[in-house]
Amino acid sequence: MAEGTPAASLSAKSPFELRVQLGDGVPEQTVRDALASGDMGFVHSFTTGSAVDGPGVRVVAWTTGCMWRCRYCHNPDTWKLTNGMPVSVTRAAEELGKYRQGLEIMEGGFTLSGGEPLMQHRFAAKLLAAAKGLGIHTTLETNGYYGDRLSDAEIETIDLVMLGIKTWDPARHEALTGVDVAPTLAFARRLAALRRPIWIRFVLVPGLTDDMADLAKTAEFAAGLGNVERVEVLPFHQMGRFKWERLGLDYTLGDVEAPSAEAVEQACAVLRRAGLQAV
Ligand code: SF4
Repeated sequence: MAEGTPAASLSAKSPFELRVQLGDGVPEQTVRDALASGDMGFVHSFTTGSAVDGPGVRVVAWTTGCMWRCRYCHNPDTWKLTNGMPVSVTRAAEELGKYRQGLEIMEGGFTLSGGEPLMQHRFAAKLLAAAKGLGIHTTLETNGYYGDRLSDAEIETIDLVMLGIKTWDPARHEALTGVDVAPTLAFARRLAALRRPIWIRFVLVPGLTDDMADLAKTAEFAAGLGNVERVEVLPFHQMGRFKWERLGLDYTLGDVEAPSAEAVEQACAVLRRAGLQAV
């Protein structure tokens, strides 16, 4: 089975590295078999030492493949599955094993992010289970759309889900991402029923997600779940813009500035008023 390319390393300095076509040349049937079995997955890169992708210090695997088209996505090179490098679960777990002790000392763990990791849900489930088997704390960062692809037993191997919620309003969600918000909310409710902790990630984009009445509804929903430990308000930035341009994609947010510190604080205040811990 094809794995890796001589030209590309599994590690990247950051997910902002543009990576494309690493899986080109992998036969279509091999891709289909990989998706079905999960023994192999497509990964943009591994990064180490992240302090912003879950508790403590994290090793992060950024998978490729995403069915959403968020207008503010900063990693559109992860949309296409075969832009990623084919990596077996065994090799990925070996890579993680190297960091096991260090992660334990730094009270960190492994985060599977993307792209959307559940586009490759068999691979995601196997890799998270392998990490858990190594005694490593596991986090899944997801938009939740394909949460129903995971069994309850698979969800048990995930210590924390970082769930991206963009907006409460269905029409606005569709305009922003191209898809329905309902599956994401259903996954959040299911995690609550299973008593699995959630950190919500909310990107504050001036003019797109900064309607405080809309955010108050998201906050009310999140607070009502009972398993949301914190909400991270992430200020929009332009660091992914060059990828849109290099990939020839139509970037519509060129004129949007990062939100002010006051705007971020205002969003946090709305979330706190609902009883949530917002940072
Ligand atoms: S869900 Fe994430 S990876 Fe997918 S388009 Fe949106 S921001 Fe990008």
